[in-house]
Amino acid sequence: MPTQAKGWGTEAADQPLRPMTFERRDLRPDDVAIQITYAGICHSDLHTARNDWGGTIYPNIPGHEIVGRVTAIGDEVTRHRVGDLVAVGCMVDSCMSCDQCLSGWEVFCREGMVGTYNGVDRHDGSITKGGYTDHVVVRDHFVLKVPDGMDEARVAPLLCAGITTYSPLRQYNVGPGTKMAVIGLGGLGHMGVKLGAALGAHVTMITTTPSKGEDARALGAHDVIVSTDAVQMEAAATRFDFILNTIPVSHEIDGYLQLLGRSGRMVIVGALLQMPGFVGANLIFWNRAVGGSAIGGIPETQEMLDLCAKEGIYPEVELIAMDEVNDAYERLLRNDVRYRFVIDMARGL
Ligand code: NAP
Ligand code: ZN
Repeated sequence: MPTQAKGWGTEAADQPLRPMTFERRDLRPDDVAIQITYAGICHSDLHTARNDWGGTIYPNIPGHEIVGRVTAIGDEVTRHRVGDLVAVGCMVDSCMSCDQCLSGWEVFCREGMVGTYNGVDRHDGSITKGGYTDHVVVRDHFVLKVPDGMDEARVAPLLCAGITTYSPLRQYNVGPGTKMAVIGLGGLGHMGVKLGAALGAHVTMITTTPSKGEDARALGAHDVIVSTDAVQMEAAATRFDFILNTIPVSHEIDGYLQLLGRSGRMVIVGALLQMPGFVGANLIFWNRAVGGSAIGGIPETQEMLDLCAKEGIYPEVELIAMDEVNDAYERLLRNDVRYRFVIDMARGL
């Protein structure tokens, strides 16, 4: 039997989120039902709720940083048991038979991965609804195990902010000896600092907000550059091997490219439809490269969770009640989050 779910979502790009009820599907043989305890708020939730990228289907219920307890499993599920603490990130399904899925890159499934919200279910064509809800039903492969002993209230942001920053660091072998910088001290950026430092890199925070400098150092940054200070930017020319760019709005990258040294690479993770052009010579000289990165695959996400459990790496979170979500969105837009909002479902829906 389908179950009644409660959540918060929005009816249109210019409407606030409000309480909603809807149905969650009956369990398929490979499904896991999860009672959600915490859900993180990602800037992508805001982009989607406000239709920044186009294509949002309303009503939209965001949330792709989900933690909770398994309440039921389908007949064929063997990896998870009722009572387990589990987590769900940005994907809930994919074909699981193409080259990308088989190599652990479900995010690039040839048939398209199914997003945790605003995605189209592969079986019944319904629109997926995310984590700002009391429970969720997800295909077993896309349910991560939360290692024993983790601080449940602080796990959720690892499922998007954590993996989206961990994956590029792994792809480009960031580690001891790497001089890396992170641009933007928000949800993703603060995880980039923590993970980069944990992997042994020398980490510099590049921020527009001078008052975040002290925080950046407390999070593990060895150095801080205020990007609006031309003198500091000039002094850092060609200093870095790797730059993780988390800026959430369209922006010029030339000033940042000049900070890359020989064969340095900038990875853009801010999810922007359009970017202004840049000066080609900024790539040719110093053999620089610019690229992007989309979340990460499921095996890599589990690897990241296991590392965070082992090393005690957690996001800095501000726990809120569900009815504070609209205020949290406004604060996100004002750059006033230190450093991830997490909805605590125990405070009521
Ligand atoms: P966030 O918490 O709002 O943080 C973004 C940070 O960027 C801000 O705290 C601010 O840091 C800096 N910033 C904001 N406006 C800026 C501007 N105009 N110029 C320069 N810096 C600016 O956002 P988030 O949740 O970390 O998400 C960041 C971006 O990543 C979003 O676009 C999100 O959709 C995207 N994303 C992508 C993926 C992926 O798979 N690639 C996954 C998740 C999220 P300072 O105050 O330090 O300057
Ligand atoms: Zn996200």
